[in-house]
Amino acid sequence: MEGLFSLLLFAAFFFLMMRFGCGAHIVHGGHGQHTPAGGNDTDPVCGMEVPPDSGYSKVHQGSLYRFCSRSCLDKFDANPQQYLDKGKEAS
Ligand SMILES: [Zn+2]
Repeated sequence: MEGLFSLLLFAAFFFLMMRFGCGAHIVHGGHGQHTPAGGNDTDPVCGMEVPPDSGYSKVHQGSLYRFCSRSCLDKFDANPQQYLDKGKEAS
């Protein structure tokens, strides 16, 4: 029983560390499986992640899209619906 109790105590401690301690930085600074609000956006043309401070952006139908390069932006501009439909199927 004592072993189980200390295991639970350790788990609780570990959880708190992950939640409030240094673990929070690891989660926050992790390289992008997920894209939190204000983080990298995905280029709908080539699928690359585009950091907020680089690349090109365009507002289309009220949503902001980001592009890694001018050529991707031009491709999107030529036929936005094609890339938007592709994105919906993928997700
Ligand atoms: Zn691109």
